[in-house]
Amino acid sequence: MDRQQEFVLRTLEERDIRFVRLWFTDVLGFLKSVAVAPAELEGAFTEGIGFDGSAIQGFARVYESDMVARPDPSTFQVLPWSTGSGGHYAARMFCDIAMPDGSPSWADPRHVLRRALSKAAEAGFTCYVHPEIEFYLLRDLPGDGSVPVPADTGGYFDQASHDVAPHFRRNVIETLEAMGISVEFSHHEVGPGQQEIDLRYADALTMADNIMTFRYVVKEVAITQGVRASFMPKPFSDKPGSAMHTHFSLFEGDRNAFHDPDDPYELSDTGKAFVAGVLRHAREISAVTNQWVNSYKRLIVGGEAPTAVSWGHANRSALVRVPMYSPGKSSSRRVEIRTLDTACNPYLAFAVILGAGLQGIAKGYELGPPTEDDVWSLTDTERRALGYESLPQNLTEALSAMEHSELVAEILGEHVFDFFLRNKRVEWDNYRRQVTPYELATYLPVL
Ligand code: GLN
Ligand code: MG
Ligand code: MG
Ligand code: MG
Repeated sequence: MDRQQEFVLRTLEERDIRFVRLWFTDVLGFLKSVAVAPAELEGAFTEGIGFDGSAIQGFARVYESDMVARPDPSTFQVLPWSTGSGGHYAARMFCDIAMPDGSPSWADPRHVLRRALSKAAEAGFTCYVHPEIEFYLLRDLPGDGSVPVPADTGGYFDQASHDVAPHFRRNVIETLEAMGISVEFSHHEVGPGQQEIDLRYADALTMADNIMTFRYVVKEVAITQGVRASFMPKPFSDKPGSAMHTHFSLFEGDRNAFHDPDDPYELSDTGKAFVAGVLRHAREISAVTNQWVNSYKRLIVGGEAPTAVSWGHANRSALVRVPMYSPGKSSSRRVEIRTLDTACNPYLAFAVILGAGLQGIAKGYELGPPTEDDVWSLTDTERRALGYESLPQNLTEALSAMEHSELVAEILGEHVFDFFLRNKRVEWDNYRRQVTPYELATYLPVL
């Protein structure tokens, strides 16, 4: 029993915690939970908790379905809302998933990210990230295909005190802070009902855990306020989608490896090669950063989402932005990746972006000139003439780009890579078969 494990056991007793939820994430990014009594926890630390992996999306084939969840004591947090009538608190810990022989499971997204991070560590880097998380607050989540109703009528940066939104955001932030997750900014986004909350930077693994916690807290708080939250990338045809812009930086010890005071963008050669890697592999990693059929409805002209492979400084049509910051603040030199949507699996998405960036560094990719054009206003032909590559326009195009990627296969590992492609092909086929209300309304009256 190590010190962290002992701390967890002591806290359970001191705070009279009756439930410990062991959390992990499936390949598609859904949070899974198994509650254990505190008395079971010592055994969980030493042997793990066995479960049937074949019932979890992407985890195992039936003949190798026994798996073990091993709680990571460094992620222990008391859930700051009380459970049930007794007023006892519950706590949670994220788990690493192991095979019965104790080796890490290749199906565990947390392990995929851990592998990418150790690759970064071999090259001398620690990876820090911070996400800007957008989502919609809605009156309800209709399951019958009808259009949802936003929970407020606000717009960008609106402070509407009579609406549910400011109270909601404050409540979410207090809950997150009580769980050790710091929030940097929050505001109303462009769409009615649309919110943005930006988390303070952390190392990439902690942040992926934090994002899973964030989604859960946001949904819970919404329900307590009589509304619902959705991380669907594009719930409305005529309103902006929800992104998860993520800022990346690599540190070598205390030094920000992306910072060079002598460069006009204060971006080092390492930083440039990282961006070049992300851009060169952008199409191959799309299916992971934008994993749903619906994700590609967001990546269209308008709504401030990127549509082409490009980078820029202030240019909001760019896929990667090198933001300005207070001069001389070298520690904050970072690059903002703007493709990710708010419904990606954060472990896998961080792994593929980091992997693509590291490939750029390892191979010394050259970064082309920044984009001054407003890429959105160009036609496809003009874009091609100017050398801009378009992002995949739908899930099947993204899957075709991923299928041939040795890099993505290596980052995800064979198991996750194969499962992901198979699962997403089925998703695309199910969608492709549908005759939509749009087609009926457009064709039926005239054809
Ligand atoms: N909602 C926009 C998107 O989907 C981003 C808006 C912004 O924060 N600039 O990409
Ligand atoms: Mg923002
Ligand atoms: Mg935003
Ligand atoms: Mg942003």
